[in-house]
Order: sequence, then C-alpha cells, then structure tokens
Amino acid sequence: MKCIFCDIIEKKIPATFIKETDDLIVIKDVNPKAPIHYLIIPKKHIEMVQDLTHEDQLLAGSMLLMAKRLQQELPANGGFRLHINSGKDVGQLVPHLHMHFLAGALKAIDL
Ligand code: 5GP
Ligand code: ZN
Repeated sequence: MKCIFCDIIEKKIPATFIKETDDLIVIKDVNPKAPIHYLIIPKKHIEMVQDLTHEDQLLAGSMLLMAKRLQQELPANGGFRLHINSGKDVGQLVPHLHMHFLAGALKAIDL
C-alpha cells in the first residue's frame, strides 16, 4: 500500500530532507511541535510497530541509531525525545511507521 510518506520517499511530493540512507529518510515535520521536530521514516512501507517482523530487526535498530546520529548534529549538545504513535486509536495519522525526533526546549512529561 502506498501512502504520503511513500510519495515523499519517491520524491513525488516535496519535503525538507535532513538525511537519507539506503533504509531510512529523515525529514522535517511539516507541523512542528518542538523547535526541532524530525520524522525518522523507513523506506519500506510498514504500517506500524505491530507489523514489524523478525526480518525488520536491523531496520528497527537503524531507526534508533539514526536518532543518536541526529543528536550529534544538534547545535547544543542536548537531549531529545522519541515518540511513536502506533495505531489510529492513539493518534497515528499517517499509516507508515515513523518515529518523531523532538528536541530543543521541551517540557518534561510524566509517563
Ligand atoms: P502521526 O500522528 O501519524 O504520528 O504523525 C504524523 C506526522 O506527520 C504529523 O506530525 C504531521 O505533521 C506530519 N506530516 C503529515 N503529512 C506530512 C507531509 O506531507 N510532510 C511532512 N513533512 N510531514 C507531514
Ligand atoms: Zn508508505
């Protein structure tokens, strides 16, 4: 199934690219919720975490390691927050797995 993120990956619709690897893209979120708000998106169309399989182990790990790499390029050596909505009922709007990378002047949240 193709979706808006597949179209961005295939450069059919524009986005601000931060990084691109063989497996992932990182783009700026079009509606940022923090001073720095990126989306780490696998090129493979996987709808959500529930659809990951054993075969996707490296891909899933590469998403976390990409977050580490993005932090190293932040202007200040600050921390960051990672967030995944995995399911329509919890607010997932785009049905293509993605991890939000948020940084810069975030409020603490209680989980
Ligand atoms: P979700 O709620 O699915 O976790 O988040 C989807 C995110 O994708 C939202 O933060 C939204 O602002 C962002 N988004 C939706 N459509 C586009 C788009 O066409 N381009 C970019 N750059 N971000 C998008
Ligand atoms: Zn897709």
